[in-house]
Amino acid sequence: MEYVVDTKALTKQYGRHKAVDSVSLHIRRGEIYGFIGRNGAGKTTFMKMISGLSTPTSGELALFGASGREAAKHHNRIGNLIEQPGLYEGMGAKENLHLKCLALGIHAHGYEESLLQTVGLQDTGKKKVKQFSLGMKQRLGIAMALAGRPDLLILDEPVNGLDPQGIAEIRELLLKLKTEKNMTILISSHILEELYKVADTFGIIHKGVLIQELSKEELNQKCNEYTEIKTPNTDLACPVIEQMGYRKYQVISHDTIHIYDTAIEIGALNMALAKAGCMVEFLQVVQDKLEEYFLNLTRD
Ligand code: ATP
Repeated sequence: MEYVVDTKALTKQYGRHKAVDSVSLHIRRGEIYGFIGRNGAGKTTFMKMISGLSTPTSGELALFGASGREAAKHHNRIGNLIEQPGLYEGMGAKENLHLKCLALGIHAHGYEESLLQTVGLQDTGKKKVKQFSLGMKQRLGIAMALAGRPDLLILDEPVNGLDPQGIAEIRELLLKLKTEKNMTILISSHILEELYKVADTFGIIHKGVLIQELSKEELNQKCNEYTEIKTPNTDLACPVIEQMGYRKYQVISHDTIHIYDTAIEIGALNMALAKAGCMVEFLQVVQDKLEEYFLNLTRD
């Protein structure tokens, strides 16, 4: 398997302190990799080393199958948004992007507009960045990172400080970049719950050490994800659930059903239940052990 990022015992030491301690991490092409860790765990330091913004103290880094000195030649295939997006507040979105494009030597007509379209900022006109919401600034930061059509996008805590709507917008954008542009994305957060909604693979870092790397499926198994339906008509709901091909379900009580199959199409299920005359009072994927799992792993 050729990985986009493949590290072996990658380490960054500041004085006596190892900010990143012997991390071996693997990112597959086309996936969203969720990098999760508490504040100060070493996420930013790791991302800087991958991006070529910081030199490892020791260990190996392979990018796009190239290792050693060859890996450095691939840094230009990486777009990153690490810490704050470097934006000129007195300029508009297009002007900011234009400067980035000039720096990268991109002169294609309409290029900035197409990037703004991708991140949903095409209608900002002459509005200056200082009048943007935090979410708009983050999206512009992502557009800047996308300039030059990178193969790997690295985003450090892109939803930090955003309101629920801003978080949802970034989430949609990331999924769009993955499915429509086949982009590989490394994204960090200290909230596992949020990363869970977009990531395919998870790396959990604590005090510089990668304590676990696991797929969404493996995480689900550990955290016991299920879909909960609350309805007074459980007798009507069961045949609908079966018709939709879900086999692993259980009637928990007179008004509650749990489905343990994964990849449940919530919208379609809801419509099918309603069509069958079943009154749905609650329908949601429940993952109440997720944060607990993370906290247990990173408890001192
Ligand atoms: P946060 O979510 O708070 O940004 P993080 O997981 O990104 O945290 P890092 O910023 O990578 O963590 O920091 C990891 C550790 O390395 C911290 O203890 C930090 O103080 C230390 N560190 C980071 N950069 C430097 C530096 N330039 N010099 C000395 N120590 C540093």
